[in-house]
Amino acid sequence: MDKISPETRSRVMAAVRSKNTGPERAVRTLVFALGYRYRLHRNDLPGTPDLVFPGRKKVIFVNGCFWHFHQRCAGFRAPKSRVEFWEGKLTRNRQRDRVNQRALRKLGWKVMVIWECEIKELARLQRKISEFLDSAAEIG
Ligand SMILES: [Zn+2]
Repeated sequence: MDKISPETRSRVMAAVRSKNTGPERAVRTLVFALGYRYRLHRNDLPGTPDLVFPGRKKVIFVNGCFWHFHQRCAGFRAPKSRVEFWEGKLTRNRQRDRVNQRALRKLGWKVMVIWECEIKELARLQRKISEFLDSAAEIG
């Protein structure tokens, strides 16, 4: 059932390891390999979604586990210093995410969030992406 080639797999995993835009680039590579076409960073949409599928009216956000405060996550480590500062900042990031997602839904867009930590399980992620993009249902 593995639709992607070993070459794609290794390109995705190499992107995961690269810094900064790693997770986002990995998801883009995977989505493209699965045959879907998208636009990037439509800044006229709330939250500037990372991948936009205008024909399907769907968007994907690729969230870093730290900056987007993925609390129940092995990849999230609460900072040990300046705890209040970080708690405030990360909580605000998460609230902003929620506000943006709600605004998108109100505009009729379906929203999927992919967490950085999910990219390690490529087969599962691949299934999740296909389900989201092919169906009328929404996957959070
Ligand atoms: Zn995570």
